[in-house]
Amino acid sequence: MTQGPDTSVVRYRPHHFLCSLGFEGKGYSPDFAANMTAIVMGRLRSTGGDATRITVTGSVDDICRPCPKRRGQLCTSQTKIDRLDAAHAAALSLAPGDTLTWGEGLRRIRAAVPPGSLKTLCAGCEWEPYGMCEAALVRLHNSPAIP
Ligand code: SF4
Repeated sequence: MTQGPDTSVVRYRPHHFLCSLGFEGKGYSPDFAANMTAIVMGRLRSTGGDATRITVTGSVDDICRPCPKRRGQLCTSQTKIDRLDAAHAAALSLAPGDTLTWGEGLRRIRAAVPPGSLKTLCAGCEWEPYGMCEAALVRLHNSPAIP
């Protein structure tokens, strides 16, 4: 018997919505990359925008869980992460406890995050200079419809 896609709820801190848009399979460790690949590619992207629900958390989430930088409920880069989460929560109107679909997250990104804005919104993120998030953002804005 084949199993259908896992559509149970994913827990995300605010800045991981944008991270999931730009994710290309790389990460902080092999376990981290495998976990994020399973969530982003195996659940969010493959099930269609509105099949997967995400609950917003103000702390470590399902992406953080196997991260080598996680220290319990905190991160070794906590000050930077707090700043990123606050900026992304404000931009996407997210608050801890909110639940929305991945598709709704994509629609909020498209409505509130214009191409060219990540240098400000994601300032300090070590992945931003590589450009894959900006490229994904441009693709999102150019896509005809969000599933
Ligand atoms: S670097 Fe920090 S915020 Fe980012 S995934 Fe790892 S533990 Fe979570």
